[in-house]
Amino acid sequence: MKIYNEEDYLNLAGIQHFAFCQRQWALIHIEKLWKDNLRTVEGELLHKKTHDGYYFEKRGDLLISRGMPVFSKSLGINGICDVVEFHLSKTGIQLFGRDGKYKVYPVEYKRGKPKDSIIDILQLTAQAMCLEEMLCCDIAEGYLYYGETRHRVKVCLDESYRSEVRDALDLMHQYYNRDYTPKVKPSKSCKACSLKDLCIPNLSRCRSVSGYIQDMIEED
Ligand code: SF4
Repeated sequence: MKIYNEEDYLNLAGIQHFAFCQRQWALIHIEKLWKDNLRTVEGELLHKKTHDGYYFEKRGDLLISRGMPVFSKSLGINGICDVVEFHLSKTGIQLFGRDGKYKVYPVEYKRGKPKDSIIDILQLTAQAMCLEEMLCCDIAEGYLYYGETRHRVKVCLDESYRSEVRDALDLMHQYYNRDYTPKVKPSKSCKACSLKDLCIPNLSRCRSVSGYIQDMIEED
């Protein structure tokens, strides 16, 4: 099993960008470009509400951790879980300083409504894989909470999602190490993309965006 050094960790949340569009992920995480739109600002506010710093709470048999930092040495990622719930259960794991055993459930908060794609599921699965490695446990299910429907959806964290997470992260590490930004592949995702103005689809088929912007600055 490959073990990554901490300095090589990628941002866990990047997997949703990568699954949406590999080029978008590279623009954000390699070229460090970002542009807010209504969706990203609303999403940011929802996450801020969910975890303003690390926070732990007990409600009866339920323990709730908000803003929990997580990482995986084998996947080479780190990030923050919006919410991790610990449900009292005989088949769970022992937690340091707590009586009884608990089953672990990651809960990811999203601003919109359930999507047709598995983007959100991959992010949740990556969180679960981090928690499994950190807490030496198995996590079969997690939840996606959607702000628009104010409802949470249970997700079975199948092997097929885990395998997609591993494949995506493997590629992300390769791209990151090579400083590689994939070329534009116009798709219906472009319409909803927060970076569509920076991506410059027609001009960037054969060059990097940072190169284009640098040229523009020099011209000025
Ligand atoms: S505009 Fe389209 S190709 Fe460019 S980053 Fe966004 S989704 Fe990807």
